[in-house]
Amino acid sequence: MTPVSTFRHRRLAVIPDADDYIYHAIRSRIQSTLLFQGIYLRNADLVFTILGCPNLTIIWDLEGHLTPLHAAVQLRPPNEQIVTPLINQRQDDIMQRDDEGRVPLHHAIEAAWKTKPPEGEVRSEFANVIRYLMRNMQRTDFDIKDDSGRSPWYLLCDPSNCTCGYPECAASWIRELRDTLEPIRGPALDENSEGPSEPVAPPEDSAQYRACVTTDGTVGEFYHAYDERSRRVQERINLKTPSIYRMMYDPRYGCAKILQFSRRREGSQDFRCRWIHIPANNVRATSRHEPTERLTESRNNG
Ligand SMILES: [Zn+2]
Repeated sequence: MTPVSTFRHRRLAVIPDADDYIYHAIRSRIQSTLLFQGIYLRNADLVFTILGCPNLTIIWDLEGHLTPLHAAVQLRPPNEQIVTPLINQRQDDIMQRDDEGRVPLHHAIEAAWKTKPPEGEVRSEFANVIRYLMRNMQRTDFDIKDDSGRSPWYLLCDPSNCTCGYPECAASWIRELRDTLEPIRGPALDENSEGPSEPVAPPEDSAQYRACVTTDGTVGEFYHAYDERSRRVQERINLKTPSIYRMMYDPRYGCAKILQFSRRREGSQDFRCRWIHIPANNVRATSRHEPTERLTESRNNG
């Protein structure tokens, strides 16, 4: 809480403009309170509305020890609708530590472990919260230690030695989330690079050049994006079918630029995979235009 004494020299009723520091202090206090109340009351609409406020400044809760994400992942039963936008819009909170040095993953796993939900909707929602946290972390951080040297998985029964006494040990499905997490993370292709080697364009009077200009190929990408309307992360596909020349040799284009240009503009995007299909083995195209080795090579590299 901002101490009242800070403002003592000023009459609080007088706020000259929106840049005023007292205005900002009051505003961030109100926003923070509403955000945390939204989380504790499981009011996803309120959380979403506050997250949409421009220049949001959040004061951590409970004497500055909890980020909104720490608070949200502790909810039991879990609430994916609240956790997902918090992860998407406050990425820095994912690796923040509370006063015991615990990151949100510590709390998310603890909540699932303590609840021990049977197979069904609640378990699936816990699983999604934990999975989505992990998808937004570096793999090397999955075993991050708190101030007592405990990893997020510390509470769980040892895989080879169940000591919890429950007929179905929750440690197995919780650990499985990590074991089955997709191996892919991060952008599959550097936006500034077209791959390990720059292909050299064929001379303009060659058959290869004509083949590349008149034959189309498909570039595509699958990615995850946060959907404002449904408030969920959705899988998206972005497809373009430019000429082979444009996707491979034209310095103004290239696959990365083509995809970047055609992708829907939206907040956070998380890539699953990209692929490039070059019809080098298309009989009609190949017999007509005699494309050379290079196309075949490129297809394999793509
Ligand atoms: Zn056990």
